[in-house]
Amino acid sequence: MVPFERTWPYETLGSDVYVLECPFCSRPNVLLPMKKEELKELHDGKKKLLVFPCCYNRLKLVDADGDYLLADRTIPKRKNPLS
Ligand SMILES: [Zn+2]
Repeated sequence: MVPFERTWPYETLGSDVYVLECPFCSRPNVLLPMKKEELKELHDGKKKLLVFPCCYNRLKLVDADGDYLLADRTIPKRKNPLS
């Protein structure tokens, strides 16, 4: 079971990966400095330090599935889900 508080949804467009909202600064439609192929590498066990280009906050990614990125720690905006 994937811990919800460590996930963040992403979208792809061609080989680009972006998020509808930055989990740190809330900026909409942030293009991530990674390519779609790297999502597969994450899923295969490779880890990646993601630096958001909007606010330079960092998130260490440890996995990805078809819809979500998985970080090694709680993502700020996920702290109080459904509460
Ligand atoms: Zn940001």
